[in-house]
Amino acid sequence: MIRNMLQRLMYGRYGCDALSLFLLGVYVVLYLISSLVRLQVFYILDLIGTALLLWGFFRILSRNYERRRAENAAFLRVAGPVIQWVKMRRCIHRDKDHCYFSCPTCKQMLRAPRGKGKIHVTCRNCGTVFEKKT
Ligand SMILES: [Zn+2]
Repeated sequence: MIRNMLQRLMYGRYGCDALSLFLLGVYVVLYLISSLVRLQVFYILDLIGTALLLWGFFRILSRNYERRRAENAAFLRVAGPVIQWVKMRRCIHRDKDHCYFSCPTCKQMLRAPRGKGKIHVTCRNCGTVFEKKT
């Protein structure tokens, strides 16, 4: 019943994307800051957060696909490298079986099994051979 209502509401709408999720995330952070710190100055954060939340919902419920896609593409051009870096850091943190390092020549990120001692590494990107202790 509720699922059908949501499906009918969202039919033809743009939906959620990276920019909308970012706006909702910023709203949550600003809301937490303004609710934890009860100073008069931080009410402006509440207003900014509410404006971002409304913008996020406007984007999700919008029917103008082209403008929303262009906005999201512009956002990803700016935030894409940061998002990639965060994903890589999370992957490195979770992977306990490999050690990660970058090629000294081309800075390509490489990985090797952990605990193998001193090994010769050949970069797949530029072919540089170098020693690495894992
Ligand atoms: Zn390389």
